[in-house]
Amino acid sequence: MKFDTVIVGAGISGCVLAERLANENNHKVLIIEKRDHIAGNMYDYYNDEGILIHKYGPHFFRTDKEEIWEYLARFTDWHYYEHKVKSSVQGQLVPFPINLDTYNLVHGTGLSTDEFKVKLEENKFTDSPKNAEEAIINQVGEKFYNLFFKNYSIKQWGRSPKELHADTVKRVPVRLDREDRYQLAKYQGLPSKGYTHLFKNLIKSDNIKFLLNTDYKEVIDGVNYDQLIYTGPLDYYFDFKFGKLEYRSLKFEEKTYTTDSFQEEAVINYPNNYAYTRITEYKKMTGQKHHNTTVHYEYPIEYKRGESDPYYPILNDKNADLKDKYISEATSLENVYFIGRLAEYRYYAMDDAVEAALHLYDTKFSKLKS
Ligand SMILES: Cc1cc2nc3c(=O)[nH]c(=O)nc-3n(C[C@H](O)[C@H](O)[C@H](O)COP(=O)(O)OP(=O)(O)OC[C@H]3O[C@@H](n4cnc5c(N)ncnc54)[C@H](O)[C@@H]3O)c2cc1C
Repeated sequence: MKFDTVIVGAGISGCVLAERLANENNHKVLIIEKRDHIAGNMYDYYNDEGILIHKYGPHFFRTDKEEIWEYLARFTDWHYYEHKVKSSVQGQLVPFPINLDTYNLVHGTGLSTDEFKVKLEENKFTDSPKNAEEAIINQVGEKFYNLFFKNYSIKQWGRSPKELHADTVKRVPVRLDREDRYQLAKYQGLPSKGYTHLFKNLIKSDNIKFLLNTDYKEVIDGVNYDQLIYTGPLDYYFDFKFGKLEYRSLKFEEKTYTTDSFQEEAVINYPNNYAYTRITEYKKMTGQKHHNTTVHYEYPIEYKRGESDPYYPILNDKNADLKDKYISEATSLENVYFIGRLAEYRYYAMDDAVEAALHLYDTKFSKLKS
């Protein structure tokens, strides 16, 4: 069979493009996915207990872009949910990102917004922080850096903020008031029947075929197609010829408790104690009713190809150079398009990934509609 487009990867980047090309251009599309499921890192499923959980860590959808929200709303209803996170520090749970309450709880004070603002301004000591440590201290001061960021970063990245680009933390969000929502975006929620259900609707077209459990390199030589959209790892496409891009990975320990509610908020961060960085209680995000509850303990780990999944690109000079070399090869290829968090070696929030995929469609493919 002849395909107009082969898409490597059934995550949101690949599936949005599949949807557009199949429905708008009448393309015959083949999606090749190496995992045993669609939905990429947004994959969710009901565990043995019947509780809806996110396999690759908590995914909370938020955007300020109405067109992205509306586009996805064609494939799902929304469960309106505003995410809140608390951090466990000095034996108490305090709002995170840092707000006025966080400051007052940690210091046992009752500062007003204006007084808090003055305290924050006292921290600033440079206009050009040399690394992430300086960038954070510059904004929140040494005490909060030590309480909330230093050890968290050592766990999360396996290195001190001193060794990371100042860009990793361009701006630490600090709220001068008592705002305790994790994000302030206009649209916030989760698909009411889960992300995987959204994906099933997204790629529900007779024009789309998919092949799961298949690394595209095992089959691509035998497939007849015109163009390739690639959402897998950038360096893997080129057989690592310039070297390997580094990632940080994660491991999740799942536990189900015989209680209706396990913790105060959906996510509690543990910056200083324990090997895990956070605990997520999924029912608090999905709104599911169940007499038991499932949580994930999240452990950052080294990424080893074949043993763990690539999660977060590691931003340093070496990886930035390597990425540039691969990207310049990638852009010179004809009829091959690199898109998504792995193929562009960058962190994409879900709405940005959808936007980038729609933009690629609009700029490259929409005029070729049949
Ligand atoms: C822990 C964590 C939490 C997150 N939480 C949020 C959140 O709360 N809100 C938010 O907006 N964003 C969040 N994100 C970001 C979100 O996961 C990404 O925006 C989204 O997954 C990007 O989709 P993608 O299609 O680009 O990549 P992916 O979802 O990774 O899809 C790429 C697909 O390609 C497949 N693939 C790779 N190599 C091959 C190959 N050789 N052959 C065939 N298939 C291959 C992979 O198996 C994968 O399914 C989070 C990310 C992480 C890591």
